[in-house]
Amino acid sequence: MAEVLVYVDHVDGAVRKPTLELLTLARRVGEPVAVALGNGAADTAATLAEHGAVKVLTHEAAEYADYLVVPKVDALQAAVEAVSPAAVLVPSSAEGKEIAARLALRIGSGIITDAVDLEAGDEGPVATQSVFAASFTTKSRVSKGTPVITVKPNSAAVEAAPAAGAVEALSVTFSAQATGTKVTARTPRESTGRPELTEAAIVVSGGRGVNGAENFSIIEALADSLGAAVGASRAAVDAGWYPHTNQVGQTGKSVSPQLYIASGISGAIQHRAGMQTSKTIVAINKDAEAPIFELVDYGVVGDLFDVVPALTEEIKTRKG
Ligand code: FAD
Repeated sequence: MAEVLVYVDHVDGAVRKPTLELLTLARRVGEPVAVALGNGAADTAATLAEHGAVKVLTHEAAEYADYLVVPKVDALQAAVEAVSPAAVLVPSSAEGKEIAARLALRIGSGIITDAVDLEAGDEGPVATQSVFAASFTTKSRVSKGTPVITVKPNSAAVEAAPAAGAVEALSVTFSAQATGTKVTARTPRESTGRPELTEAAIVVSGGRGVNGAENFSIIEALADSLGAAVGASRAAVDAGWYPHTNQVGQTGKSVSPQLYIASGISGAIQHRAGMQTSKTIVAINKDAEAPIFELVDYGVVGDLFDVVPALTEEIKTRKG
């Protein structure tokens, strides 16, 4: 069976959930070989093995933390040359997409970004994407070189699939460009204690209907009752009610959670573009004719200032 490289997104050895989802998809198209780089790379091996990695290629070097993405691209290229994989899978984070694009260019391969599903095909992996502001769902495959595919978080379940996960050191020679752009300082964002928006299993978003920055506290309370991330429409962001980092949509972030709750959001095409691939969509809107109701699984016609606090209380009660 052909090997499939999976780029490991981890923080000091703690593997992030989108990588475990990639392992589920990788097992459909071949034998997953994980590539873990930087501080704590070897510490990822046990988790990766539990989720199906037959092998874990590791390389630790200060360059991965001290410089931007090029050292990681150098390492992935070395892994491609060592393994000759059937595909390379990378999480669809901002960094992941930059790494994937640079890698595809380096190895002269085609690339598919923001896939939401992956299956084996007669001529290589077939990826599903939601394109043109979610107007179409397409299935495509890379016809040139080694397919490089980025996959959006929450596109697959995390599955236990014990495998050998043998750790092997990857031999990497950094290119001249690797040390071209040095990171001089990192300023961690103030933690809200909520999950990262693009990775969250549940997202609760507020729009113009929330009617003020101070009212976002009811959206946050609902989010916290569910362990969810908070999103916002562009109207709410442009009004200065919520940070741009939380904007969902065409010019914001693209999310694909198990559950997306839109409150006071009309459902403009540019908003849909960032959330339409969510597995279950719930909308709360006082206008029964709001376009968002065209795509929901469950719709509540009502005033969000009544519905959202009531929902929060009900969830808290049921959780005990
Ligand atoms: P509105 O469209 O004003 O809708 C507010 C909704 O709240 C209404 O349906 C109303 O019935 C409801 N409401 C009001 N009060 C209550 C209440 N008390 N209880 C319940 N419901 C209530 N938009 C994005 O979101 N993300 C993007 O990334 C994005 N990118 C864009 C890029 C371009 C190039 C352009 C042109 C536009 C973009 N937009 C984007 C803007 C988009 O077109 C819409 O203007 C925006 O999504 C509207 O936000 P909204 O739904 O919050 O506001």
